[in-house]
Amino acid sequence: MDGTLRTPADLAEAGLIAPERRAEIERVAAEFSVAITAEMAALIDPADPADPIAAQFVPRSAELRVEAGERCDPIGDERHSPLKGIVHRYPDRVLLKPIHVCPVYCRFCFRREVVGPGGEALNQAELDAALDYIRRRPAIWEVIVTGGDPLMMAPRRLREIVAALDAIPHLGVIRFHSRVPVVDPGRVTPELVEALAASKAVFIAVHANHPRELTEAARESCRILVKAGIPLLGQTVLLKGVNDDPAVLTQLMRGLVAMRIKPYYLHQGDLARGTAHLRVPIGEGQAILRAMRGAVSGLCQPSYVLDVPGGHGKVPIGPSYLEPEGDGTWQVEDVGGVRHRYPPEER
Ligand code: SF4
Repeated sequence: MDGTLRTPADLAEAGLIAPERRAEIERVAAEFSVAITAEMAALIDPADPADPIAAQFVPRSAELRVEAGERCDPIGDERHSPLKGIVHRYPDRVLLKPIHVCPVYCRFCFRREVVGPGGEALNQAELDAALDYIRRRPAIWEVIVTGGDPLMMAPRRLREIVAALDAIPHLGVIRFHSRVPVVDPGRVTPELVEALAASKAVFIAVHANHPRELTEAARESCRILVKAGIPLLGQTVLLKGVNDDPAVLTQLMRGLVAMRIKPYYLHQGDLARGTAHLRVPIGEGQAILRAMRGAVSGLCQPSYVLDVPGGHGKVPIGPSYLEPEGDGTWQVEDVGGVRHRYPPEER
């Protein structure tokens, strides 16, 4: 046993759900996978009903409510999947999804219908076909290895995939998306780091949502990756009751930058089934970013993005500071909310 809590019985035994909630949580767990690593479970205060770590990982009956607009495939992966394991939405990059397992199962996950311990990994023939798809398309410059969580793969398997991608001449970047360095930092071993070695640029986008997740063990795992020459990016999901507060988000972003992780994306919560209770209205998200702009270093400012439902891609949805005047000039708002004409009138 690795100490990961995987069933409602485990959660009850760990004191993370009250015994009388067990039946309702069983119903949620029958729909959506459950896993909380020992590191994340240790951060939860069971006495706090608003605990931001529990909100991310402990199932709630609200997940059984499906709101209008919510869907099984909120960002349209299926529509852009020409073959198993590949999502090709943009001309110069593809997703490669070799595995559907994660160290934790996030209650807001946009792929919650497909990730889980029973989720299929690509077999060798399927992986070969996916790699061949990339090989035969010179317009592909970047491969984003995701899943599931690709750093859950055995180092041997990971090494094979990295080596195969590294040998494709037209690729410039191999990017991994992972929760592992933060939620399961013990998996960042010398063998795993060695498996990621390539002549091409290998990036890792590390997913973290609350400053409490940045434990000493998480810091150490990121230190190991940075020392190996792997640039780290941060990705965060804007979540109600977790980080929908400028002070919390600032602390998280500063914490990430101090760990040499450049905040990259702040994702608007996707319209995944049963996740409305965790979604923040876009207007509130913009107000949070407005409060951070100017007050917090530009290094700590992620790009607030929405994946347009239906597979239409990601767009920035942060607040705008610029409005056209219609005569070729602009009104630009400064960080204090004062508007100025641009270019300024001659004096
Ligand atoms: S780690 Fe990522 S893919 Fe896995 S459940 Fe969480 S959000 Fe979904």
